[in-house]
Amino acid sequence: MVVNCPLCGYRFDSAQAVSCKGCPINSDCSKICCPNCSYGWVNSSSIVDSLLGLFKQGKKNGKP
Ligand SMILES: [Zn+2]
Repeated sequence: MVVNCPLCGYRFDSAQAVSCKGCPINSDCSKICCPNCSYGWVNSSSIVDSLLGLFKQGKKNGKP
């Protein structure tokens, strides 16, 4: 899967991205590190979607 670095805009295949080494517990996390600028972010749109879903649910339920 080709991803775009949100920081520098570098495009690369996520398979090329080296998983971050800052997670001793979960070494196989979904964090992607840009090979160009070393910026790391979590490429898990599912989490974002679930968060957005929670926000939508909160609005539907009338919660602030
Ligand atoms: Zn980058």
